[in-house]
Amino acid sequence: MTILENVPLAPLTTLQVGGAARYFAELRREDDVREAAQFARSRNLPLFVLGGGSNLVVADSGWPGLALKIAIGGIANPNTHDAAGNAVLFSVGAGVNWDDFVAQAVAQNCAGVECLSGIPGSVGGTPVQNVGAYGQEVADTIESVRAFDLRTSDLKEDRLVVLPKPACGFRYRGSIFNRTERGRYIILRVNYRLQRGGAPSLKYADLQRHFAETKTPPSLAEVREAVREIRRSKGMLIVPGDDDCRSAGSFFKNPVLSEEQFQELSERAKLKGIEIPSYPALDARRKVSAAWLVEHSGFAKGYAVGAAGISHKHALALINRGDAKARDIVGLKDEIQHGVQEAWGILLEPEPVFVGF
Ligand SMILES: Cc1cc2nc3c(=O)[nH]c(=O)nc-3n(C[C@H](O)[C@H](O)[C@H](O)COP(=O)(O)OP(=O)(O)OC[C@H]3O[C@@H](n4cnc5c(N)ncnc54)[C@H](O)[C@@H]3O)c2cc1C
Repeated sequence: MTILENVPLAPLTTLQVGGAARYFAELRREDDVREAAQFARSRNLPLFVLGGGSNLVVADSGWPGLALKIAIGGIANPNTHDAAGNAVLFSVGAGVNWDDFVAQAVAQNCAGVECLSGIPGSVGGTPVQNVGAYGQEVADTIESVRAFDLRTSDLKEDRLVVLPKPACGFRYRGSIFNRTERGRYIILRVNYRLQRGGAPSLKYADLQRHFAETKTPPSLAEVREAVREIRRSKGMLIVPGDDDCRSAGSFFKNPVLSEEQFQELSERAKLKGIEIPSYPALDARRKVSAAWLVEHSGFAKGYAVGAAGISHKHALALINRGDAKARDIVGLKDEIQHGVQEAWGILLEPEPVFVGF
């Protein structure tokens, strides 16, 4: 494993802002993980684990410690079946591109991740915020996560652990990896249990509309293509040349409100003579659309402040319009949070991870 110095991080992220990592290494084999941990520990350096860089805002001052890019590959499909012969276990290296894995699963007629087509980033990044879209989330199919535990102090001890799904504490855009045990684990492989020959999931209105005219139920491959098409129209698919996808995806989480907060929101809407839209998928958990809140606080799609802006296709995506700095993006984030709080009394929580701030 080669340790490099002063490696710019912006090109390794989808938002493309931020400075350099003081030290940088690419981890291609599980065996290298100990060496990397030891390097950081012996120099008392903070360690940051980088996947596909699609959910990050890196500070302009960069990262003062070791940034470890996880590049462990391999999709092992040992063909393990359940009693009915339908459940298939895929053991996937954390460095595998997520959408490549989805493509392979769909090609093998395995259901469970088709609605997550087109999400950028690595497989190792998916358990961290329990990636979800169009009615599926990875918590539905993850069986276990293989990781290196940085917490124990004896470096000689074998610290490879396998965390079964219940130990991962999955919830909406969350898990132990970004909450209670943040920074503790380096994810090396993720094991997904998919259903061979399973029907595609069509829970979301966007998808149902897409297939409304279709007579026969769509195949997994057709749902995958539909999801990618819908995502492309919203700037949520990385398409070279499309400036609207120079983002970190949705910048704010959909807020989950208490009964009291929901009443207050309804009152404010009534006073403004606006109706809060109803989305069955959100209503079930009293979640409110963050995109709706942003757009109804004076921030239209395409809004821009210098080099930072809101995507022309999606109100929740903050974009780098060319040569934005991290401070421009953070300035726009602050402005939107402030505006939404003024208008609706709700503080939006950012979704991306802030590195080096
Ligand atoms: C255009 C666009 C669309 C998006 N759409 C969606 C969407 O529909 N749904 C959704 O949920 N997200 C979406 N995202 C966000 C992002 O793609 C996901 O969160 C993705 O899983 C992040 O993975 P990554 O490998 O890029 O992680 P990074 O951005 O590199 O890292 C994110 C966090 O995960 C940690 N991490 C990454 N890899 C590992 C590892 N191997 N071990 C330990 N920690 C690790 C990092 O330390 C960091 O804390 C979108 C992003 C973009 C740019």
